[in-house]
Amino acid sequence: MSEKIYPVPEDWKNARVDEATYRALYERSMKDPDGFWAEQAQRIEWISPFTTVKRSSFDTHNVSIKWFEDGTTNVAMNCIDRHLPERANQTAIIWEGDDPSVSKHITYGELHDHVCRFANVLKKHGVKKGDRVTIYLPMIPEAAYAMLACARIGAIHSVVFGGFSPEALAGRIEDAQSDVIVTADEGLRGGRRVALKANVDAALEKVEAKSVIVVTRTGAEIDWVPGRDFRYEEEAASVHADCPYAEMGAEDPLFILYTSGSTGKPKGVLHTTGGYLVYTSLTHELVFDYRPGEVYWCTADVGWVTGHSYILYGPLANGATTLMFEGVPNYPSVSRFWDVIDKHGVNIFYTAPTAIRALMAAGEEPVKKSSRKSLRLLGSVGEPINPEAWEWYHRVVGEDRCPIVDTWWQTETGGILIAPLPGATALKPGSATRPLFGVFPEIVDSAGDVLEGACEGNLVIADSWPGQVRTVFGDQERFVQTYFSTYSGKYFTGDGARRDADGYYWITGRVDDVINVSGHRLGTAEIESALVAHEKVSEAAVVGYPHDLKGQGIYAYVTLMEGAHPTEHLRKELVKWVREEIGPIATPDVIQFAPGLPKTRSGKIMRRILRKIAEGEFGSLGDTSTLAEPGVVEELVRGRPAT
Ligand code: ATP
Ligand code: MG
Repeated sequence: MSEKIYPVPEDWKNARVDEATYRALYERSMKDPDGFWAEQAQRIEWISPFTTVKRSSFDTHNVSIKWFEDGTTNVAMNCIDRHLPERANQTAIIWEGDDPSVSKHITYGELHDHVCRFANVLKKHGVKKGDRVTIYLPMIPEAAYAMLACARIGAIHSVVFGGFSPEALAGRIEDAQSDVIVTADEGLRGGRRVALKANVDAALEKVEAKSVIVVTRTGAEIDWVPGRDFRYEEEAASVHADCPYAEMGAEDPLFILYTSGSTGKPKGVLHTTGGYLVYTSLTHELVFDYRPGEVYWCTADVGWVTGHSYILYGPLANGATTLMFEGVPNYPSVSRFWDVIDKHGVNIFYTAPTAIRALMAAGEEPVKKSSRKSLRLLGSVGEPINPEAWEWYHRVVGEDRCPIVDTWWQTETGGILIAPLPGATALKPGSATRPLFGVFPEIVDSAGDVLEGACEGNLVIADSWPGQVRTVFGDQERFVQTYFSTYSGKYFTGDGARRDADGYYWITGRVDDVINVSGHRLGTAEIESALVAHEKVSEAAVVGYPHDLKGQGIYAYVTLMEGAHPTEHLRKELVKWVREEIGPIATPDVIQFAPGLPKTRSGKIMRRILRKIAEGEFGSLGDTSTLAEPGVVEELVRGRPAT
């Protein structure tokens, strides 16, 4: 792994948290967690104050997680009403449409009106406190209105990413037992229309719902079921303009969100009200060093937890201006991200390694056409970022000026747990660096023994933090089984990690992805990083497969840069390259050139499927409903070399 260190730049030394503050606050969060969190919780407004801070147990027989339990508040009130005296005319949301000529600004005052109307429409359709509402929308402001409307009246939203199929949608509607679906006639991404309402119709052939509320996005002609389907615009015109917010208990559910399904059947992760809001608001402000008036852009879809916590709830709780983008990075050209940054004067930009690698493959020229002078900070989330992609992001996009916060977290964690604080933490490309306040990571070996100092093993978290998942919706047993039974008394992340001598954490990928070659444990992320460091490689995915002599062999899928050709010569060169970069133990046994890799719709490589193909088990690929492009799989099966 990269040994390079990027110290905190001079002009960042006045950031909110410097090194001394980080150490002092971390220490305090460890010695007096209740005092620390009671103080931090004052950043949001409570209707009735809490008297207990934390009550949690990770004991396998009695898992229970509660924060600020007897306090009451409302998330929508905190994200909107609270800001109105000061910020009614400030932009809350900048919406950038798929078509680069279309965008709009929504002020906090306007947001209030939209959310109230949306809430009243939901009420009109019988939605009450605790009811589940499925939101299947494109990246349009109505997605934010609908989510906040649920929060306002105490309904639980379940946002399903607009790219999911009718099957995947039906499964989630059924699991959440939701009577009301909010959708749009169509979505628009990269100039292409997405038939959202038609997908809902297909899903509702399998499961039932009482009302479908349809937002008009393209005005396309769609099928209509009278008595079940309603036009949002007509409904909104028929309801009252104001809607009081409901008083919610801190532990009342806020939303259910299904994990991306990289490792199996998605889990309905349940988050609650008070702790989640405190945690997302705190981490948004500190990790991104957000300052009033700045424009902040997270490119995730609201269908993922990143969109929930860091497009919507964290930024709005902080009174920020948050940008919401309907489109894709390569439409109408691969300069789109950089054009949007210039157009709206974006100061903080938060995206995923998969996007960075794709844009890196298109070269520097499309980036350099833009100015990006407004940029101050860059962020990454979703997968380990290969040092190569990190360096490119830093040098080309950030012009060596912007720190990169590599943020490690999960749907289950609600917010960022391990990440640099840009004014405090020297950066190492590829490392998520250090834990945030109140987060106590440990590395354990397979027996569950805690390892000290520099080490590598399984990443667990020793104690609860306010943003933590409370249960798997409707399945407490699966919750306990998945997260608390592997290492008794600890939250198991499912990820592997290495800790270096400076106490920095390096996420090595999912524990399932570790390969055991002749008794040596190798993290797939490291081999992938080595491959991507080669100038002709744009992306790589490495899995293990049964090998007669070594136990497991190394099977690498490699996608090439634009203009590079898959030849036998290049294959040999790559094998030699990895040997030199890591060592002979990491020599790939098989390299398959792949035009594309199977990814979840959030852009993560699905190694589970790649493993099956490498093993030659084409018949049992498992749940592929969360794949972005199922066609890629067939191509890989066809192109598999003999092993
Ligand atoms: P499922 O749990 O259904 O298999 P998933 O784990 O991909 O899906 P998410 O909750 O969206 O669903 O992703 C969290 C995972 O993403 C983490 O456990 C980790 O493996 C990876 N991840 C996220 N951010 C980072 C990061 N900065 N560095 C390394 N890995 C990351
Ligand atoms: Mg996961």
